[in-house]
Amino acid sequence: MQGKIGLEEHFALAETLEDSRPFVPPDYWPELESRLLDMQTRRLALMDQYGMEMMILSLNAPAIQAMPDAASATDLARRANDFLAAEVARRPDRFQAFAALPMQDPDAACRELERCVKELGFRGALVNGFSQIGKADSMFYYDLPQYWPFWSVAEALDVPFYLHPRNPLPSAAQIYEGHPWLLGPTWAFGQETAVHALRLMACGVFDKHPRLKIILGHLGEGLPYGIWRVDNRNAWVKTPPRYPAKKKLGDYFRANFWLTTAGNFRTQTLIDALLEVGADHLLYSTDWPFENIDHAADWFDAVSISEADRLKIGRLNAIELFKLKL
Ligand code: MN
Repeated sequence: MQGKIGLEEHFALAETLEDSRPFVPPDYWPELESRLLDMQTRRLALMDQYGMEMMILSLNAPAIQAMPDAASATDLARRANDFLAAEVARRPDRFQAFAALPMQDPDAACRELERCVKELGFRGALVNGFSQIGKADSMFYYDLPQYWPFWSVAEALDVPFYLHPRNPLPSAAQIYEGHPWLLGPTWAFGQETAVHALRLMACGVFDKHPRLKIILGHLGEGLPYGIWRVDNRNAWVKTPPRYPAKKKLGDYFRANFWLTTAGNFRTQTLIDALLEVGADHLLYSTDWPFENIDHAADWFDAVSISEADRLKIGRLNAIELFKLKL
């Protein structure tokens, strides 16, 4: 399929590059490093070769979210966004941008999101999970009350918020002790991000801000497979919900969440996501440079879904969600 649009597609600054080193064996690092730092050359050539018209770009992970000093996080987010804006300006027909945000300071995050959307023309934000604030061993999730003004700003700007994975901190990762292979994209990313998403659904923020739009990668971090049981549990036991939100969590999942194919090129999993959220809430993505553009495209171009759905997922949904002029 020609004209595909991807929205979990990363780059790195020299200052954030090292954050990505642990995710590949040492002998692959030179390759990943060169992929992360390239913007206009090899990336564009691969996009041309595999029918990708556009990438909505974002900084690598965890980057800003792993900087406990709020002032430093704010400064680096701003510089990363300015750098990205300049790269996008060279090829706005092929690249658009997600803002990196200093969630350590909710006020600063609001101001940076507004600046990026209104002044730089960014299409939304991509944030790498919880933020460390004040000290390294701290985890702040965005259902907390101090983030509700931020959600109000995101809703008013009418731009999506991509909740991207990061690993849990060692102090919260006892379950993985002795099993380091379960960290990262293998398992811990999905677990961490799915629980964060469920916290958002349960806290009631979508009752107050019903037009909020949240994007999850990796075909929903396992949530399409688990969301029915979240709401039903042992259904013969009648108990009222034990969370502040007014509806079933699946209602928010279907209304306020969009899922991308980033890093999850599996037909069975796509079909499950289609059955849970429908073709209007699914979007194509690669997860470049951690995954291959050809792996994503070769699978998606041939996957056994209707041509109408392929067009929606590959392109049309992104044009609508991000108000792209293509
Ligand atoms: Mn990613």
